[in-house]
Amino acid sequence: MAANKKLLVLPGDGIGPEATRQVMRVVDWFDKHRALRFDVSDGLVGGAAYDAHRVPLTDETLADALSADAVLFGAVGGPDWDDLPFELRPERGLLRLRKEMQLYANLRPAMVFPAMAEASSLKPDLVRGLDIMIVRELTGGIYFGEPRGIEELPDGTRRGVNTQVYTTPEIQRVARVAFELAKKRDNRVCSVEKSNVMESGQLWREEVQALRDAEYPEVELSHMYADNCAMQLVRQPKQFDVIVTDNLFGDLLSDAAAMLTGSLGMLPSASIGDPDESGFRRGLYEPVHGSAPDIAGQDQANPMAMLLSFAMLLRYSFDLGEEAALIEQAAENVLASGMRTADIMQPGLAKVSTTVMGDSLLRELDKLAT
Ligand code: NAD
Repeated sequence: MAANKKLLVLPGDGIGPEATRQVMRVVDWFDKHRALRFDVSDGLVGGAAYDAHRVPLTDETLADALSADAVLFGAVGGPDWDDLPFELRPERGLLRLRKEMQLYANLRPAMVFPAMAEASSLKPDLVRGLDIMIVRELTGGIYFGEPRGIEELPDGTRRGVNTQVYTTPEIQRVARVAFELAKKRDNRVCSVEKSNVMESGQLWREEVQALRDAEYPEVELSHMYADNCAMQLVRQPKQFDVIVTDNLFGDLLSDAAAMLTGSLGMLPSASIGDPDESGFRRGLYEPVHGSAPDIAGQDQANPMAMLLSFAMLLRYSFDLGEEAALIEQAAENVLASGMRTADIMQPGLAKVSTTVMGDSLLRELDKLAT
């Protein structure tokens, strides 16, 4: 674990800053009640960085991110910056951060708190207690493979090309993340590809199996075709523990799994890279939702995704599992008490603001700490 816990906070645009503010209150709480101190700095990213510096991420902020132990990221984008050229758009700031920090494993948990089971589009019994972790490969595969492009053909028609390509090291490093996670959970990994129709999928399956046999014999490994996985996620989602898959399938399957939980405002994520010699992993943590310009600045945003992203940061970058669990338990208690922001409102419950949700979480932390 890093000694001084250097944390860079990049609130970004829209609801990013107001959601991040609730996390900062929790950071203060840990300082006061647990003598757990972070060396916090902040910076601009996305549209906010563009407005100040004419780029979505300055070299200085990137350098800060590279020297931080963990980055907490809000959200970027909004109508003010929709007409900018491609390379200046707010999301380019996030993509540059992920690339330069070499964050190849994207962790997307799909968890349903008991109090939220009714909010899912599936029957409550199918999702109550759901706890899946999807590990998506983030820097390879068809989104990056060469050759790519659109070409004119001699007959006047056009041809679009993208290439799905994976190498042994790329598969092994993301599979390793999945096996390590499984060891701390229910010890089961399901590797997902389409080895029935794709050679890259065949390689994926063989490499994951070989790695498991060589290094993780204690972890239960199964394989599934991606189309079947999509069906199983909506048929019987609780059958899964950890799913590991490539960039494209992970993009689709993690969004499908996310919706089992009922709301975008509840979903955290982490992107992590290689561990250093001491086993420490640098990571970037962010809610799955965007900047929600429609409700920005109105104290209406659900801060849970951001707070749960901070819990992931504590667990995966700083090995503070107990503190992470404390935040998750406090979140569960807030929801069980019937507090809801507008996005997760249900009949008969209390509709509250972002700030009141933050107040309630701090109160629950106080209760849990006594
Ligand atoms: P969005 O996630 O911002 O919003 C979708 C809908 O969900 C909106 O109605 C919004 O009000 C609601 N919502 C989202 N998060 C919420 C929360 N925490 N609490 C309550 N309601 C919430 O997606 P969008 O509308 O497609 O995109 C808006 C902007 O965000 C765009 O500029 C887009 O490019 C950007 N975006 C950024 C990221 C990111 O920063 N990682 C991700 C997705 C979209």
